Amino acid sequence: YRAKEIGNSYVSYSPEIGTLPERRFIMERDLRLALEREEFELYFQPQIDLQTGTLVGAEALIRWRHPEKGWILPEQFIPMAESTGLIVPIGAWVIRAACNQIKLWKDTGFDPIRLTVNVSVKQFERGRLTETFESSLIEYGVDGRFLEMEVTESVLLKHSLTADNLRDLLRLGIRTSIDDFGTGYSSLSSLKKLPVYKLKIDRSFVTPLQEDPDIRAITNAIITMAAALRLKTIAEGVETQEQFDILKKLGCDEIQGYYFSTPLPNLEFLKWVQDRKSIEGS
Ligand code: C2E
Ligand code: MG
Ligand code: MG
Ligand code: MG
Repeated sequence: YRAKEIGNSYVSYSPEIGTLPERRFIMERDLRLALEREEFELYFQPQIDLQTGTLVGAEALIRWRHPEKGWILPEQFIPMAESTGLIVPIGAWVIRAACNQIKLWKDTGFDPIRLTVNVSVKQFERGRLTETFESSLIEYGVDGRFLEMEVTESVLLKHSLTADNLRDLLRLGIRTSIDDFGTGYSSLSSLKKLPVYKLKIDRSFVTPLQEDPDIRAITNAIITMAAALRLKTIAEGVETQEQFDILKKLGCDEIQGYYFSTPLPNLEFLKWVQDRKSIEGS
C-alpha cells in the first residue's frame, strides 16, 4: 500500500558496498549533505475527529528525496540520524518547516488546523528544544496552539528533563501527545504527573481490533482510563471501516490512517481537504 503514496515508490537506503563503519560514514555524510541541500520534505496525514467527522489536524512525516536513489522513508534514516546526533539539526528543520507550513496555510486562507511534529528523545537531551520551537514560532509568526508535539514513551522515562521541557512548551501553547502508546512501559499514573495532553494508541492495537476481543478490551481500558484522567485519545493506523466503527463506539476522540488517507505532500493534502469539503457540503 505504501508504494501507492502519490505514486511514489520508496527505495531502501543503505550503501551496497563497504564494511559497516564505512557504510555508516557514507550515510552520515549523505545526511549532512541532505540537510545542506534541503532534500527533506514534509508529508501530511489527516487527523479526523471521530464523533464529528471533521478534519482537526495533520501529522507531519519526514521524507528524504535522495538525488540519485529517490524517495526514502524515515525508518531508513531516522535511526542513523539519532545515533549520530544529526537528528538535532534535522529535527530543528522539521520544526521550522512545520511552522512555515502553518503560516503558508494561513496565508492562503485555509481553515487553520493543528500540525503535529515528531520529536526524538535525543532532541530533549542535546537540542535546545524550547528555544528551537520558540524561535521558529516567532520567525513565522505562528501561534503555538497550532503546533503539537509527539514523543514516544521512552521520553517519559527521562523524567527530570522532560517535565520542565513539556511545561515550557505548554507555555508556548504547544501540547504533547504520547506516540505509539501501549508499546512501552509507562503507566497512566506516571503520565499524569507530566503535562501530557493526548495518547496516541499504537497501530499494533488498532490492526487486530476486529478479530481479537482481548485487544478490544485493552483498547477500551486505555480509552476509559485516559478519559478519567482527562487525556485525549487518538488511534493511529486505522485502515478499515470496522476499525473505525469500533473506535467510535469505544469513545476514541480522533483517528488517523489509510482509511482516510496516506501521508500526502502539501498540494495533494490541500486537494484532499478540498475534495472532502465538497463531499461534506453536498
Ligand atoms: P509514527 O510517528 O508512529 O508515524 C506513523 C507511521 O505509520 C508513518 O510512517 C505513517 O505513514 C504510517 N501510517 C499511517 N497510517 C497508516 C496505516 O493506516 N497503516 C499503516 N500500516 N501505516 C500507517 P512513516 O511516515 O514511515 O514514519 C515512520 C516513523 O518515523 C514515525 O512513526 C516516526 O517515529 C518517525 N518519523 C517520521 N517523521 C519524523 C520526524 O520528522 N522526526 C522524527 N524524529 N521521527 C520521524
Ligand atoms: Mg508520530
Ligand atoms: Mg505513531
Ligand atoms: Mg509508530
